[in-house]
Amino acid sequence: MKILVINCGSSSLKYQLIDMDNEAVLAKGLCERIGIEGSKLTHEPMGKEKYVVEKPMKNHQVAADLVINALLDAEHGVIKDIKEIAAVGHRVLHGGKYYSDPVVVNENVKKVIKDCFDLGPLHNPANLTGIIACEAAIPHAPQVAIFDTAFHQTMPEKAYLYAIPYEYYEKYSIRKYGFHGTSHSYVSKRTLKVSGLDPKNSKVIVAHLGNGGSISAVLNGKCIDTSMGLTPLEGLIMGTRSGDIDPAVLQYISHKEGKTIDELLNMLNKQSGMLGISGVSSDFRDVKKAEAEGSHRAKVANEAFVYRVAKYIGAYTAAMNGVDAITFTAGVGENDAIIRSQVCEYLGYLGVKIDEEKNKVRAIEQLISTEDSRVKVYIIPTNEELMIARETLALI
Ligand code: ADP
Repeated sequence: MKILVINCGSSSLKYQLIDMDNEAVLAKGLCERIGIEGSKLTHEPMGKEKYVVEKPMKNHQVAADLVINALLDAEHGVIKDIKEIAAVGHRVLHGGKYYSDPVVVNENVKKVIKDCFDLGPLHNPANLTGIIACEAAIPHAPQVAIFDTAFHQTMPEKAYLYAIPYEYYEKYSIRKYGFHGTSHSYVSKRTLKVSGLDPKNSKVIVAHLGNGGSISAVLNGKCIDTSMGLTPLEGLIMGTRSGDIDPAVLQYISHKEGKTIDELLNMLNKQSGMLGISGVSSDFRDVKKAEAEGSHRAKVANEAFVYRVAKYIGAYTAAMNGVDAITFTAGVGENDAIIRSQVCEYLGYLGVKIDEEKNKVRAIEQLISTEDSRVKVYIIPTNEELMIARETLALI
């Protein structure tokens, strides 16, 4: 059985076609610059040459049709009949308070995704457009929505409520939701599996450190806290996002520079984080290079990033009254041995000990703590697409 996984951004559409009999990726690809000049589809069929289509894509419908054409193409395709696609799994950013599990899309689900446009203004409209485009292009297949917020819906009130007048929660559902849920779910489950911990008696912290970053505390297999909030802006220092900040900073800058709240939020989302402190780049590799070349701002950006990650791990250890395993994942977490090592240096008081030889690897599943470490530390590459495909299969 073959499942198509779709992940729509505001101007992009990423996809993977997965054969669920052996969980092999048959093809994957990306449509970029949808709705703007220079649209391009890069299609990678496994075992065949990469195939690039440069054609205007005025919306996600055109992009979805091009993806289907590429999958069916006589030379570059991997299926002969559209009916081979049994279902489509869609990553959807925000499900508000409504969904804690994947759902088969119907009119009501589409309404909820639409009702959450305010909460995920860049992603939810694109996610809905992607669903509608696939309904038209692959009409026989059920469409399944997997929400990025779903895994975090088990958080208790004390973790998700903001200490602001309660009426805002009642009126507008203002609360912490958390994101990267599919990744936290996949990586925490995988951690339980490889560690042999008893899922019903386990304390796991997942550090998803990519361009966007978040940490979650997973007690007995369920998320009890996570660092992102109402939006992905809260929590860690990220590529371009500030993470936690005193809201009064906004008022101060606004008064000094006459900026609007929208301009300031744009600054916190797009010009802050590693880019803001270092002045070099949002990409951790560039910041690292600049540090090696003597940039003080790049050095302090790296230090501040590591420090914030370590503080969250400390906080979540307290939230669970202990920790059995800590797992690093995503671009930085999987690839950057120095950052992993620096974070773990702060955690010596927990009995965390890293085996620096084992820590040298990149992007493979590996235990990197020493045998006598009181906490197991892992690298587990995330695989959001596979998780979406598995959940889609389970549902249909
Ligand atoms: P996202 O999905 O949020 O865009 P990713 O999980 O792909 O992010 O992570 C992207 C980040 O991972 C980039 O900032 C990049 O610098 C970092 N990264 C990738 N490879 C390495 C590496 N070898 N060393 C350090 N950082 C890396």
